[in-house]
Amino acid sequence: MGTREQMVSRLWNSTDLWSDLAELCGFGGRFCGTPSEARAREYLRGRLAAATGAPVTGRRIGYEGWQRESCALARRGAGAPPLHGTSLVRSPATPAGGLEAEVVDLGRGTLEDFRVNEADIDGRIVLVHHEYMFASGHVHRRQKYLWARERGAVGFLISSPLPGQSLVTGSSGEGGADDIPAAGVTQESAAALARVRGRHAQARIEIRTRRAPTHTENVLAEIAGRGPEWVVLSAHIDGHDLAQSAMDNASGLAVALEVARALAPFVPSLRRGLRVGFFTLEEWGLTGSRIYADSLAPAECERIAVNVNLDSVAGSPWLTALTSGFADLDPFLHDAAAASGLALRIFRPLMPNSDHANFARRGIPALRLVAGFDEPDSRLRYLLTPGDTLDKIAPSELKLAALLTAEIVLKALTADGPVAAHKTADEVRAAEHVP
Ligand SMILES: [Zn+2]
Repeated sequence: MGTREQMVSRLWNSTDLWSDLAELCGFGGRFCGTPSEARAREYLRGRLAAATGAPVTGRRIGYEGWQRESCALARRGAGAPPLHGTSLVRSPATPAGGLEAEVVDLGRGTLEDFRVNEADIDGRIVLVHHEYMFASGHVHRRQKYLWARERGAVGFLISSPLPGQSLVTGSSGEGGADDIPAAGVTQESAAALARVRGRHAQARIEIRTRRAPTHTENVLAEIAGRGPEWVVLSAHIDGHDLAQSAMDNASGLAVALEVARALAPFVPSLRRGLRVGFFTLEEWGLTGSRIYADSLAPAECERIAVNVNLDSVAGSPWLTALTSGFADLDPFLHDAAAASGLALRIFRPLMPNSDHANFARRGIPALRLVAGFDEPDSRLRYLLTPGDTLDKIAPSELKLAALLTAEIVLKALTADGPVAAHKTADEVRAAEHVP
């Protein structure tokens, strides 16, 4: 049997993929700075060492820790129903006694919605909707938050994509002095804050948080190939504490481990080496991978042929590669998918929504594999809600993601020419300025 056939056979027959996923989900949502994240990191260190037979490294990363204490929301007025919310990640605390202001409901919260209501935002709390994140026309929560902040809003609320008193979480600001208190609220609470007969609802938000310097680390291991080049396979460790962060991103971690295990025996005889990077602080503005990518000298960047980043690779059987503007990744991926017999959609514009963006920023060809792109009814709609749990993942989806990832990585490890051309710093800057 050739390398590819042996790899596929190992993947088909393995039961480790599902057990790793279940173990990772068992630790909880892996929110940065919690025992859940620390236990998951320890587990990954052991599993990555076993998968690669190589030492596991990871530099200590110091950062400003942030934990929720409480989030209380209320609408002023007789007979107002109780409201439910949870502070967004790194929201500042409100002053003692809370923050009270009128709520301006901007609906979905597109740039147009902000422009039409321009005069109504200053001094008020902005309310918008959370959108399905993996879609071409989607407006990200952080973008809406920035639009609200720069127009003088004093608070930011985002309503859950799901009915039934389901909360939603996610990042907001980056811990700066101009950040405004931000919370995710249930759809029912958002409805109670809507304008009535042209009058804005008056709301009070009280957010308490704990901040303290702390530290964490990335988890990396590598198996050298015959030549000096590398393929970096990555997935982020951290998640959110509303659920298990099963799809986002225990799925990516389990698949990366599985692919490393299946390929490890062959890598020393292949053209390129395999480096596996489990980055943390992804949900905090892609911090772990940024520190790693920024630590690479230009010559080291040149030697990374491609970054294959796995983030939320189950919850739908359909996978999409976001190829970050690297046009020649498209034919490479088409060939890899064709070899596997599996379907793969390709979406080229850079979506800076996961760790691959930091590799792309250094000019390294980088892609993110994601399930459910442009499928708002897929189970990925539960991301960032209490619904991101193990039961949303079908074992067959995870297996397909592992098979397809392994085909892509094997092709990158063996390809004679470059996987795709690197970008110069000028080309990266030019791409970033394209709207
Ligand atoms: Zn993610």
